[in-house]
Amino acid sequence: MNRRKSFSEFELIDWIRRTAPAPGRHPLGIGDDCAILKAAASGRTVITTDMLLEGVHFEGGTPPYRIGWKAAARSLSDVAAMGCPASALTLCIVFHQGQAEPRFAREILRGLRGLCRRFDVPLVGGDVSSWRGPLALNVTALGNVTSRPPLLRSTARPGDRILVSGRLGGSILGHHLRFLPRLDLGEALNRRFHVHAMIDVSDGLAADLHHILAESRGGARLDARAVPISGAARQLARTTGRHPLDHALFDGEDYELLFTARPSHARRILSARLPAPVTDIGIVVDTPGMTLVQPDGREEALPARGYVHRLQ
Ligand code: ADP
Ligand code: MG
Repeated sequence: MNRRKSFSEFELIDWIRRTAPAPGRHPLGIGDDCAILKAAASGRTVITTDMLLEGVHFEGGTPPYRIGWKAAARSLSDVAAMGCPASALTLCIVFHQGQAEPRFAREILRGLRGLCRRFDVPLVGGDVSSWRGPLALNVTALGNVTSRPPLLRSTARPGDRILVSGRLGGSILGHHLRFLPRLDLGEALNRRFHVHAMIDVSDGLAADLHHILAESRGGARLDARAVPISGAARQLARTTGRHPLDHALFDGEDYELLFTARPSHARRILSARLPAPVTDIGIVVDTPGMTLVQPDGREEALPARGYVHRLQ
């Protein structure tokens, strides 16, 4: 136990405990030294962890409800990208000294719980502390491996169609704080179809497609006209002077699913009723490198540029 915990931090844990929903299918949630989780029938679990840092992933002044929401949504998006249903998560919060006043702290929890309730994922544990640094959160999410194996980045094949959910770009205008992770879509794709490779779009379409291609040792041709551009990308383009497509390709934090499938399966996916719209944007090829096919047929090199966090 950390002796430096202020009274309000103990109060917060107490409040979290008292107001915690039942841990669902799990035998023991918040309150003891460890939670006890019911294992998936397959005996296999996926696990992911992500930090959410003030000044990096959100600006100071962001409503605490949205901070809690985003912390959970980011980790659940990684579970979605494996094509697995989420089963539980934990939350660690490090407050800036003096910041842990009850209303602020509870709003973070309310945001996280608001999202968790949507997907019926229980919060089963965590930790709370404070320091002189800025607000920092960490969410670890777990998911069940079902009878279908998780979808990896490394299994795209030449000739696969490249598909993406939703619309891309301009997330900085608000989507990055409010999005719903594509858990239902990820699970449905894995359960009902033969998807080869999948990733969630966090660094940006070009950068995350590059991640699939690097792991699968292939290249890609994207159709510039097919890339689904969000309203926010168009709105942002008016102030940045860049092309909306540029924002859709390189902005990041869309948290959509990007995946590949053999053409016959892609056709089935595109004509199916799914929890989110899906668009065919290109093809996997066996020569490395990405190209963007312009409406007039010209092919341009597509750089793998996107959001890269530089360690300092
Ligand atoms: P310990 O010192 O044994 O780790 P804590 O006082 O840190 O105990 O936590 C007590 C209980 O409250 C544990 O079950 C822990 O998982 C839970 N808990 C602490 N912080 C959080 C949090 N931010 N969210 C959810 N559960 C939490
Ligand atoms: Mg602890």
